[in-house]
Amino acid sequence: MFPVDSSVVEKFSQVKAVYFDLDDTLCGYWTASKAGLRTAFDQNPVEGKTTDEMIGVWGQVFREFSPELKDQTKLFHEYLTSGTVTRTHQMQLTLLRVGIDDMELAHSLSFAYMVERDRNLKLFPESLETIQRLRIKYPLGLITNGPADIQNQEVDTLGIRSYFDNIFIEGEMRIGKPHASVFEKAANAVGLLPHQLLMVGNSFGHDIKPAIEYGWVTAWVRRDTDVPPSSANIGPEPIPTSGPMPDLIIGDLAELLPLLGA
Ligand SMILES: [Mg+2]
Repeated sequence: MFPVDSSVVEKFSQVKAVYFDLDDTLCGYWTASKAGLRTAFDQNPVEGKTTDEMIGVWGQVFREFSPELKDQTKLFHEYLTSGTVTRTHQMQLTLLRVGIDDMELAHSLSFAYMVERDRNLKLFPESLETIQRLRIKYPLGLITNGPADIQNQEVDTLGIRSYFDNIFIEGEMRIGKPHASVFEKAANAVGLLPHQLLMVGNSFGHDIKPAIEYGWVTAWVRRDTDVPPSSANIGPEPIPTSGPMPDLIIGDLAELLPLLGA
């Protein structure tokens, strides 16, 4: 990463609080998701299909289903409270795609997937030490999109709740990133100005682009493991060739420590 431009060093010297995204920033969500799907389909075999084929079909359905979710008002409101209904609905759609109409199997797959995904969820190797060191000097916060029950379950599975002064979950706020109100709420919680806030996240569209627009300092985390099962790409999200750019692009959270004097 080094040498870093002196203007970036100057911007980081103004930071007084740090906000992190959760999934694929602090922990390997897609790695856990893929392991969870594998075990779920191994334990609940679908006639005539291999586990790999079913993971592929799940990914295809996910790619179609998740962008539509926010337009399906009733389903989206249920999703904000609990991931169960949409997760099971997606399993049902996955089975229907291979000609199987079996709600009981969809429920079994959905439950096994949730349990195994949670069991496989791990912090990245440097995450804990990074937040432990930053916490001595800065108030820390989490801003995470997703259902209230699942995001809280993840925070507790990872054992990181006590490190964060503020935790903002889309499902609890009923609104998520990239909406301005979420970033305003986070700024108000620590009583700081936008240029005193650092956003660290893996999603350019949800974490980084809005934070740049709202005047925050930004560190975009790009890891090789950050690939959903639905993605045709084999690596992390491509770097945009135009438009606003983050202050920093990192592959490891520990790269933040020297810039933040921690
Ligand atoms: Mg993320």
